[in-house]
Parts: sequence; structure tokens; C-alpha cells
Amino acid sequence: MTLRRLDILTIFPGWFDGPLSTSLLGKAVAEGQLDLRLHDLRDFTTDRHRSVDDTPYGGGAGMVMRPDVWLWAAEAVWNDLRPQAVVGRSDPHPDAVHVAGGPRPRTVLLTPRGRPFTQSLARDLAAEERLVLLCGRYEGIDERVHDLVATDEVSIGDYVLFGGEVAATVVIEAVTRLLPGVVGNEDSPTDESFADGLLEYPHYTRPAEVRGRVVPQVLTSGDHGAVATWRRRQAEELTRTRRPDLLDEDE
Ligand code: SAM
Repeated sequence: MTLRRLDILTIFPGWFDGPLSTSLLGKAVAEGQLDLRLHDLRDFTTDRHRSVDDTPYGGGAGMVMRPDVWLWAAEAVWNDLRPQAVVGRSDPHPDAVHVAGGPRPRTVLLTPRGRPFTQSLARDLAAEERLVLLCGRYEGIDERVHDLVATDEVSIGDYVLFGGEVAATVVIEAVTRLLPGVVGNEDSPTDESFADGLLEYPHYTRPAEVRGRVVPQVLTSGDHGAVATWRRRQAEELTRTRRPDLLDEDE
């Protein structure tokens, strides 16, 4: 299976205008290789201010995103319902959020406390037919949304962003470029950093000499076997010196 449809839930759908219309990601979306749908969380609110947040129980700084709004939004996206069909419903499905005809699609909540995002997880997500990304803001999202809505919690690194939109974009880019036909050169996604547990070897292009720095002779030798061996050694050396943790993961 390969990813066909990706839904994003956010309070800033406009944030994605640039990334989703640029370069190979923009082309994949424009050509329908990926059915990408943006949803404004504020369409699932009940008050005239379209509030998605409230003060935290127990006190403390900042605001927390409301669970009812997220539950309605997730149920609508999963089941292809319009906001009017779900907003304001009280506990339509008391035990959990309802998904017609099967389990909920893989639903990734972006959060600093999530599982670290890696190329291996990107491959895993690219093999899903549907993916839903949830972008938090403020102090984060009510814990019950983590429990009832998310199938995965994912972090893009040990730092805190304003919101989940950048993190969602990272996931979308990494996943989309693994889809068949998205990257022009079919070999690229299999012959690059992390694909085989190593960082990638160094690249060179013309001119052959710049500021006294000359391209390694083996690359202009025409000996494909020697080039492959050199690249493999460079990849191993780079990984050993810069990211020995990647080598440990193989053991
Ligand atoms: N109070 C939260 C904490 O300390 O973990 C941080 C909330 S952050 C200001 C707001 C939103 O940004 C989060 O709900 C999440 O969606 C997103 N976010 C921030 N940093 C992230 C990261 N490293 N990875 C994924 N999402 C992140």
C-alpha cells in the first residue's frame, strides 16, 4: 500500500500555501499523486469567536486546546463529514470517536513529547493509505485528544516550536518524496542519507577545481566499481565520525 490521502488539521491552513505549491511537493499535490486536504480547526467551534482554546485546569501559564473541538474535527475528517454534521453533538459515541467501517486512519499528533521522527518512520507512514496530521498550538492539546484521537505522537526534534505546522511540513516532505514517481530520479530515495543506515557520501559537480579544491580523482576516473567503493567508504567514515549512533542502531 502507498499513501494516497493526507489530511491536515490546523488553525492556520494558510500557512501551508507556500510549501504545498512549491517544487516537487507542489507538483505531487497539483498532479494528484497525493490527495492533500487542509481543514481549519476553527470550522469546528460553536461560539462566535471561534475559540479553540481555554485556560488550563489546575492553573498555569498559557492556554490549552479544547478537546471537544478536536474530537468533532477528527470525527468529521475521518468520516468525510461536513462540520455542521458533527459540531455541537454531545457524546455521539461515548466510548470513543466514531469511524465508520473500520479502524481510524493513522492519525499523527505532532508534539515535542512524541516519538522522534526518522526516515524509518517516514517509510512506515508512506505505506499507509491515509494519514491525518494534527497541528497543535498554544501550550498544547488537551490530554484526552492524545488518548482518543491520536494513533501516533511524533516529535521532529528536541526543541519547542510555536506550533505543529512546521513539524507537519517536515513529515509531509519526508513522506511524499518516498511515494512512487514523486522524485524524478527513481533511485534518489534509496540512495541517500538514512536509507541504508548511513549518511550519504559527498557530492561534487563542475567545475573540477574551485579555489584550489580539486574533485577527488576517482570520480573522474570512469571506473564505476572504484567510484562505488569510494562512495561507500566515504559514507561509512562520515557516519562513524558524525553520527556513530546510527551505526549502533544496526547492532
Ligand atoms: N507546552 C508544550 C511542551 O512543552 O511540550 C509545547 C507546546 S508548543 C508551544 C505548541 C505546539 O507546537 C504543540 O502542541 C505541537 O503541536 C507543536 N510542536 C512544538 N514543538 C514540536 C516538536 N519539536 N515536534 C512536533 N511538534 C511540535
